[in-house]
Amino acid sequence: MLDLRHFTHLPELAEIIAAIESETSGMVVVAGLDSHHAEDQAEDALLPGGRSAFFRIIVRRLMPDDPKQRVLVVGDAEDAMRLRPRNRRRQVSIVHPEKLRVTPAPGLRPALMVFDRLDDATVAAATAAAAAGLRVVAQLDTVFRGRDVLRVLEEMGAPPDSLNAVRWILTTQRWAALCPVCRQETDDSALRSAIVHRFGPFDGPLYASRGCAACNNSGRQGEVTVFDAYHQHADGRTETALALERYVMGLVAEGIV
Ligand SMILES: [Zn+2]
Repeated sequence: MLDLRHFTHLPELAEIIAAIESETSGMVVVAGLDSHHAEDQAEDALLPGGRSAFFRIIVRRLMPDDPKQRVLVVGDAEDAMRLRPRNRRRQVSIVHPEKLRVTPAPGLRPALMVFDRLDDATVAAATAAAAAGLRVVAQLDTVFRGRDVLRVLEEMGAPPDSLNAVRWILTTQRWAALCPVCRQETDDSALRSAIVHRFGPFDGPLYASRGCAACNNSGRQGEVTVFDAYHQHADGRTETALALERYVMGLVAEGIV
């Protein structure tokens, strides 16, 4: 089963996921651009994927241990099937978004609600369920991250008041990785100033890949997922718990990107 250890991740990300696991209400949005990589479709992928693979990990982490506690997946049956771990099928019910118009989510008493795809048809039901005190986790296809995602949700039709119930916005992006075959330490000062300009102060060793047969002279081989985490506390405080720039810098320092 794909898990967080399949991602090259900074320790802060594991801490954030542990904090999310300790909460019992509010909404977690996993945002990013959909990637159509083949590995994202596989149940047990060898390679870490992008947003949808990370979303499945978060869903599994948030599933209640007690098999009597119900998990409600809102979405198309086919999409939703992918979100059901094999050993937890009986705990998970699939509900079509239309049904939520008839029976709002709190009446169904789920311990966890999963929205496989936030769109105009589902966003209001998702944020309303979170505002009513349910635990909600949802996936959003977007180029935005952090606080900007709240604006996207509002434009899609979420009532502004209900957005207070969004606790976390976790954004993933895919970045091209340096080719490990031709990677070398470099003292290229132009590269250093470009990195400092874009991501902030950095004085550690830098790496670059010149290109070789293994990477078709591109200097790049494969991709890694980078993360950004924005937190709205229940008392209204907000913070960027893990900035994308900080994340990228962590990978630059390890010579990964
Ligand atoms: Zn190479």
